[in-house]
Amino acid sequence: MHIHAAILWEQGQPLSVEPAELDGPGPGELLVEIKAAGVCHSDLHAARGDWAMKVPVVLGHEGAGIVREVGPSVTRVREGDHVVLCWAPACGVCPPCKEGRAVLCDRLEKVTYRNKLPSGAARLHARGKDVAPFLGTACFSDFVIVSEEAAVPVAQDLRFDALATLGCAVLTGVGAVTNAARVTAGSRVVVIGAGGIGLNVIQGAAIDKCDLIIAIDLRPAPLALATQFGATHTVHVGTGVGVQEAVRELTGGRGADFVFDTVGSPATLTTAIACTRKGGAVVLTGLSRQDAQGSIPMFPFVMQEKRLIGSVYGSGQPLKDIPRLVSLYQDGRLKLNELVSRTYALDKVNDALSALAASDGARGVIRW
Ligand SMILES: [Zn+2]
Ligand SMILES: [Zn+2]
Repeated sequence: MHIHAAILWEQGQPLSVEPAELDGPGPGELLVEIKAAGVCHSDLHAARGDWAMKVPVVLGHEGAGIVREVGPSVTRVREGDHVVLCWAPACGVCPPCKEGRAVLCDRLEKVTYRNKLPSGAARLHARGKDVAPFLGTACFSDFVIVSEEAAVPVAQDLRFDALATLGCAVLTGVGAVTNAARVTAGSRVVVIGAGGIGLNVIQGAAIDKCDLIIAIDLRPAPLALATQFGATHTVHVGTGVGVQEAVRELTGGRGADFVFDTVGSPATLTTAIACTRKGGAVVLTGLSRQDAQGSIPMFPFVMQEKRLIGSVYGSGQPLKDIPRLVSLYQDGRLKLNELVSRTYALDKVNDALSALAASDGARGVIRW
């Protein structure tokens, strides 16, 4: 079928929204009409060339839409279902999948992280070339082919732009709190970075009844939003306030039980470790450049029994976690509408990426 998609022909250059050709779904695959797609830092990393990848590629991995056709042997999803896309479609049979750690599925490294569908088929073409689907999702496009495991059916009366955010930012942020850190009620947490992931760490901590939720950012606008999402205190970096001193003061001199680094730079990791109390944990969710190295002051790390936890895509099982998040949204306990700060048409996708690069808060969403 003829569609329009935002194609990255060369990293470091703008995306080109242009006609493309999409084949129908093969076995275990679905054709999904995209209704909304969030613009995430991972798209920006790929577009800028922070992560090397083969082009041409269609970016976008945080989407929601309607299933229009199902391929042979599809059982979990039906035509007409409203779905949230999951960019980590797990195989269900490898050792990590059997351990319940779907986000570490071995198949992801073989296909999804190489921007291929699990079937290996090339379904999207433009200018006579095959176009790779970023993370097997490629939702900066009118329609996509995804594997059955990459679509989670949800209720039909919910806003697509709100649903789209569940597919990456919300799952990543809330899951870091519940699945990776397993915070308990009354915990004192620090969240470095109040962007798309950080705001969701903050609301996850609020849902789990943390006592103290300290949001830290360089920018005033995200800090105002952080308060709306449940932060009890904010620290505006660069206004003469030392982050470590501020956290120490707010925690009675002890440091935080959990520090979430959603930025993922060597400098923020250093700050995160310094702000953690004895026996506390740093949870690292921010994706850095592929070659970034952080450092750890080893002696105090051992003496104070600190822990460092990496967390990708919410550290859980997206096919179970996404429906649970939808219920929280339906109960009014999870803010999704408020996350969507701006919406764009597909042909304005480069503006959305520029706004994200300027980091002006919350989430831009492409809407059809
Ligand atoms: Zn993302
Ligand atoms: Zn697996």
